[in-house]
Amino acid sequence: MKHYPFILFYLFCNVFIYAFHGGFWVYVFCFLAFSAVVVWGSFDIELGYFVNSITHKRTKTKEVALTFDDGLTEFTPKFLDILKENNIKATFFCIGKQIKKYPETFQRIIAEGHTIGNHTLSHSNTTGLLSTSKMVEQIEKCDEVMAKIGNITTNLYRPPFGVTNPNIAKAIKKLTKKASDGM
Ligand SMILES: [Zn+2]
Repeated sequence: MKHYPFILFYLFCNVFIYAFHGGFWVYVFCFLAFSAVVVWGSFDIELGYFVNSITHKRTKTKEVALTFDDGLTEFTPKFLDILKENNIKATFFCIGKQIKKYPETFQRIIAEGHTIGNHTLSHSNTTGLLSTSKMVEQIEKCDEVMAKIGNITTNLYRPPFGVTNPNIAKAIKKLTKKASDGM
C-alpha cells in the first residue's frame, strides 16, 4: 500500500513541531507542505504516487510510442490514413461515449492493428472527485462498449487529465483483481 508517505510525513511533522515548540505557523506550514505533496502527486502521474504507471521505457534505441487520447472524433480516420501511409502503429486511449458515436472508426483502428486503451466512459471533468464505485463504473462501462463494438478487451488504462488519487487507485485495484479472478 501507498500509505507510507503519509505516515512518514506525519512523523516528520510531529518531530518538527516538537523541535520548534509548537506554534500555529508550524502547523500551517506542515499542512501546506502536505497539501502540496498530495496535489503534486495527483497531477504528476510520472511520480507514481498513487498508482504505478507506465510513463516511459528505458531503452537505448531512439524510439517513441505514439498515443492518442480522447477519441474517437470525426478526425480519427485522417490520423489513421497518415499512420497507414507511414506504416506506424499507435495506441488509442478511447472514451466509451465517443466509441458509440463512431463505431466503424473503432473497428477500423482494431482492424489496422493499433492498440486500444481505456480512457473511461465519459471523461468526466470531475474525474478527480469521483468515488471509487463511480470510478469503477466509468472504467467498466468503457470496457463494455469496447467489447460490444470491437469485440476486444484491454488491460491498458489512461486516467483522464492524468489525475490519480486514492479513489482511482482503489478502483484500478478492484478491476485488476476482478480481471485476474477471471470474471
Ligand atoms: Zn483525456
